[in-house]
Amino acid sequence: MTNDLAGLLQSPEAARVGAVLIIDLAALVSNWRDLAARVAPAECAAVVKANGYGLGDIAVARALWQAGARSFFVADIEAGLRIRRALPDARVIILHGVPAGTEDEVAGQRLTPVLSSLGEIARWSGHAHRLGDRLPAIIHIDTGMNRLGLPSDELERLCNDPDRHLSGLDLNGWMSHLACADDPRHPLTPEQLRRVHAALARLPSAPVSLANSAGIFHGADYHFDLVRPGIALYGANPAPWLANPMRPVIRLLARILQVRAVAPPMTVGYDATHHVDRPSKVAALGMGYADGYPWSLAGKGTASIAGHAAPLVARVSMDLLTADVSAVPDHLLQVGGWADIIGPHRDVDQVAREAGTIGYEILTRLGQRYHRIYLGGASV
Ligand SMILES: *Cc1c(COP(=O)(O)O)cnc(C)c1O
Repeated sequence: MTNDLAGLLQSPEAARVGAVLIIDLAALVSNWRDLAARVAPAECAAVVKANGYGLGDIAVARALWQAGARSFFVADIEAGLRIRRALPDARVIILHGVPAGTEDEVAGQRLTPVLSSLGEIARWSGHAHRLGDRLPAIIHIDTGMNRLGLPSDELERLCNDPDRHLSGLDLNGWMSHLACADDPRHPLTPEQLRRVHAALARLPSAPVSLANSAGIFHGADYHFDLVRPGIALYGANPAPWLANPMRPVIRLLARILQVRAVAPPMTVGYDATHHVDRPSKVAALGMGYADGYPWSLAGKGTASIAGHAAPLVARVSMDLLTADVSAVPDHLLQVGGWADIIGPHRDVDQVAREAGTIGYEILTRLGQRYHRIYLGGASV
């Protein structure tokens, strides 16, 4: 632990809470720069939906804006308005589009909706005509996800009369989304690329966006004009078939609240699931499932205390974890000290694997109780 960090962990704010989340904005920026360099001359946007994948969308967006990012994707208008207030000149793109009744606010705040149906396109175009203005939009074409985006029959109608459908729109681009990009060999990925090209051949020319984080690692054919990384910015591995090319962005530390000697035979925690069968030391740590740490991680994974592995044992409680700290030397085991839960010894992807989920879910469920320390950028 660096001296800087040790100092930050001794702050009054850290003293009030059971766990501290450190968010390294310098690593975040470095990840964005790395991706931007990989895709140049394409533009590298930043996906900051779900509160910046749990890390704080304003802090993330500000840091990336300073680094040169200009386009920010969020899911809904509420998040879009927040980013707009923080970044008056950014392009703020709403993946969920423009629900009926929100047109005035979306237009007034210069948000760019992603439109996913001819009906939505007609409504937005109608609003543009009422305002006597041109309104920005990105049009999402479904190429195999079958989630959002124009289905093939609507695409057909659009291709047959694009000028009529698109009148009044300041078309910022065509977009599609890959379903299987984190699998390097899935046949749907090149098939989706083929469908994108087939659609583009019949549509008016505009910038094109296809790749999420994983898509970027399928090579330049997938970059087009704008890429939309999310998870890679936040340090999880966007290309599981490679060693993680990104820098880790978060570190999660829980306070050591108590250490006890446990003599066998004895059990630890709820439902007495962890059996102690030799003389042990057990530490109680100040976070639990209410902080987004999965209950399913009972008995899985390790904490790290001053570089010593401390297996996490027993049930995950609401506000507590327990670790077997028998292998940690006594002089390093101080009540009030800190145990790494996510950090150099165990990254987000590993925690996700242990929990049977994906890094995205671990990040976006990070709780609200942590004292959050932003390193290398403006705090919020
Ligand atoms: C969430 C999302 C992204 C970002 O995906 P990552 O895998 O996190 O890079 C890109 N595009 C769309 C449409 C999304 O919904």
